[in-house]
Parts: sequence; C-alpha cells; structure tokens
Amino acid sequence: CGIVAYTGNEEASTYLLNGLGRLEYRGYDSAGIALMHDHSFNVIKRRGKVSELKEACAALCPYGTCGIGHTRWATHGKPSEKNAHPHVSAHGSIALVHNGIIENYGELKDELAQHGISPVSQTDSELIAHLIELCYVQGEEVNATACSAPADETSGDAVNAMNPSKLVAAVHKACKKLIGSYALAVMCTHEPGTIVVTRHDSPLIVGIADDGMYAASDAIALLDKTRECVILPDKSIACLTEHQSHFYKERTHPLTQTSPQQPPHQ
Ligand code: GLU
Repeated sequence: CGIVAYTGNEEASTYLLNGLGRLEYRGYDSAGIALMHDHSFNVIKRRGKVSELKEACAALCPYGTCGIGHTRWATHGKPSEKNAHPHVSAHGSIALVHNGIIENYGELKDELAQHGISPVSQTDSELIAHLIELCYVQGEEVNATACSAPADETSGDAVNAMNPSKLVAAVHKACKKLIGSYALAVMCTHEPGTIVVTRHDSPLIVGIADDGMYAASDAIALLDKTRECVILPDKSIACLTEHQSHFYKERTHPLTQTSPQQPPHQ
C-alpha cells in the first residue's frame, strides 16, 4: 500500500511506475495509475504485480504530465481490478488514490445514496472521491491563508497562496466527514496540472524538484528525484502544481498557515 504523485514538465507515468516499484516492499495486491490530460483521466489498473501494470502501460502508452499512482493492500473489498485504485467520482471530475481505512464507511455510503450515488467498487476509498466531487460542486467559501514550502516565491505565488483552489476547499470539507486513517492524492478535471494531497495517520511526503512536484508514502520513492522533502504534517493539505507547493492546516476554520517540518536526515 503506497501512493505516488507527480505534476511537472515530464511524462508522469515514468516516475509513477518507478515510484510504485520502490514502494513494493510495503506489500500490495494490485496497482494502478491515473494521468490527467485534456480535462479527462486515463486510468490503468491491474491486479497483481507492478510489473503487470508496467506491461499494460507499455502497451497503452498513457501520456500526461500530471498523475497519481497506488499499490493497494485491500481492506474493503477483495483484490480485483475494479477495487484497485485510482478511483474516479460518479461524474468523472475527481480521481484519487487512498491509503488507509475509512471507519464510517457505512454512514458515508448512506449519505451518498441520498444523493443518488451508488459506488461501482466495494472500497471505502471510492466513497471519498464521490464525497469530494459533491463538496466541489457545492463549493465552499473558505477564507484561507497558506504558506509556501521552502521554495522560491514570486509575488504571483503569494497571491495564489491567499486563494486556495476550489479543490483544496473541497478536499478540506470532505475530510472533515472522514473517520479513520488516510493519505490521499486527488486530481480534478477542472484544475489541470493540480494535485491536492492530505493525510491523517497515514504517511505522505512532498518532494520539491526543478522538474515538478512529487509526493509519495515513503521518501525512498522520492530521493532519486529530490533531496528537498517535506513530511506533510498530520491533518494538513498541500496543493501541488508544476512550480508551486502550498501547505494548509486541515480541519480548522479558516484554513490556516502551517509550517512544514523537515524530515530528519534531509
Ligand atoms: N482501504 C482502501 C482499500 O481497501 C485502501 C487500502 C490501502 O491502503 O491500500 O482499497
């Protein structure tokens, strides 16, 4: 069970597949990636080894410079291609990968049923994708401030930092409903090139590099790309785009500034 994510100026699949390979030691039963291109997702998943996913990708040649990947250790629903991540929301605007266990699965499922949404997989994770899509559509006025990771800031970045994207707000709102553990990497077709990551009781590290922004469950999947790594503080959100990373403290109103910690030995 591991997560990788990349947005930048390189083909994302190369890193995602290599990164997943480095996370294999964590154990898994299936693997998948999703790339965003032209406001839509290309999702490829396989039961079994990352090598099988690599073969599928070699044949299908997915392209895109923004993507997420996952190795799954099933907790809700048997190991299968359908239950493998990434999961896409009912209306196709959200794709996500999730590590962890959502304990209020039943309640969330009932809540989504009231909105006419029935999941296609048996996973707890798919519910989060639907929930974020609902929150995105409903929108949320969030008066927020953010601080940048230790990267160079231009005045333009500073303006963006004051206005978290709608996706950040939707993830923030959806996560308040989750009971359990999670590390998430989320993409939205309305926000090309953006990946929002967050976590609670599951690990997630952000890597800042010249060719883009990375995230992974373990620094081992980042260290050949960058030495500039930030352990995402628990219950925090990071918004990653090609040249920027902004960090928000989750579960507070308004979203407030947080100081990312440097992991040891970096
Ligand atoms: N609970 C999720 C599932 O069963 C995620 C498992 C994991 O962390 O890999 O799909």
